[in-house]
Amino acid sequence: MTTEELLQYDKEHIWHPYTSTIDPLPVYPVDGAEGVEIILKDGRRLIDGMSSWWAAVHGYNHPVLNAAAKKQLEKMSHIMFGGITHEPAVELAEKLLGILPPELEKIFFADSGSVAVEVAMKMAIQYWQSQGKSGKYGFATIRSGYHGDTWHAMSVCDPVTGMHGIFSGSLPVQYFIPQPSVKFGEEWDEKAMRPLTDLLEQHAGDIAALILEPIVQGAGGMYFYSPTFLVRAKELCKQYDVLFIFDEIATGFGRTGKLFAWEHANVVPDIMCIGKALTGGYLTLSATLTTKQVADTICSGEAGCFMHGPTFMGNPLACAIASASVSLLLESGWQEKVKAIEAQLQQELAPARSYSNVKEVRVLGAIGVIEMKEPVDMAVLQRRFVEEGIWVRPFGKLVYLMPPFVIRPEQLSRLTKGVLKCIGN
Ligand code: PMP
Repeated sequence: MTTEELLQYDKEHIWHPYTSTIDPLPVYPVDGAEGVEIILKDGRRLIDGMSSWWAAVHGYNHPVLNAAAKKQLEKMSHIMFGGITHEPAVELAEKLLGILPPELEKIFFADSGSVAVEVAMKMAIQYWQSQGKSGKYGFATIRSGYHGDTWHAMSVCDPVTGMHGIFSGSLPVQYFIPQPSVKFGEEWDEKAMRPLTDLLEQHAGDIAALILEPIVQGAGGMYFYSPTFLVRAKELCKQYDVLFIFDEIATGFGRTGKLFAWEHANVVPDIMCIGKALTGGYLTLSATLTTKQVADTICSGEAGCFMHGPTFMGNPLACAIASASVSLLLESGWQEKVKAIEAQLQQELAPARSYSNVKEVRVLGAIGVIEMKEPVDMAVLQRRFVEEGIWVRPFGKLVYLMPPFVIRPEQLSRLTKGVLKCIGN
């Protein structure tokens, strides 16, 4: 198949994320990826600034992860999880429970981030139902969040940038409070808790859980907020009998400078979702974790169990790769790498602050964000980035970098210089 034929077939038949079939955005044919480079079919190599949406923390085509995949493939790629268990799942569970808060003792493996969020929300509903507390079916969340594209996950995404308008009428209506007003690194102001306090005072009887992305809101706005918000929110959830769910699907595995974002505040949620970088970006896998108390309460109810069991639950191939990825991360000196990326992003993105079309530049861990004053023309900007030899995928007003942790300083400089050149006016 020639490149032209491939692109033509793709254009005529294949849907891409958030893309029109009438007027599709351009796509770039990729042949392979290695380290932090994406290799286009025409041979050009692009430095990856996206980690394939937070996932590929070790870069691509990593020998350790490749070896783990091959070893597991020789044994079995998949086997149902009903009535069966296996070493890859048990080993991975043990590793994850060893690096997550000790209170979270029960783990449910699912197949994508959105499903992990659905699982978390179903757990919260069943938890209250099992105790005969009827009516706690709603969820509270903060604006500008993003939790996935499936039904209930979508209902707690930001009501403006999310899909509420299009699906209103069929989507459950949830309770939204403003984004935490105190940014990460700013002095705490207790006034930031007023909206949540008011909401819970009035509606806690209808609310099963508060769900949010701790510290870093990702796809909903790339916003960083004060850890103290989580400390106070946990106190309020306890006071008002509302479960607290952390969606660490984007923030997990070192991205924010801590292994998981809960560590910034030392606040342990009742339920936590992880995904994305769990397999180092190799395969789709997620997990929802909870406490023994929550799990046992769910299972003491009328159903006698938690009502969820996807076909590919605990997929051995994905678990084996995830296990290797977690070990690789822990042995990689990730903290120093993320610190160095953070310092370099701080320094090299700073000049954009003086650009007339830039509203704000913010950096936390291995995340660098340039918020523009106006939405960018994605197709045009993407083409310019590719011409500069970098892979960056902006959305709305946000141009951001979250490179694999293995990126070398000179490669990161190419990314930051390329971005500044292309957005400069
Ligand atoms: N939660 C968060 C915080 C995310 O960033 C995402 C993915 N961008 C999801 C959930 C959904 O994950 P997935 O795309 O794997 O379904």
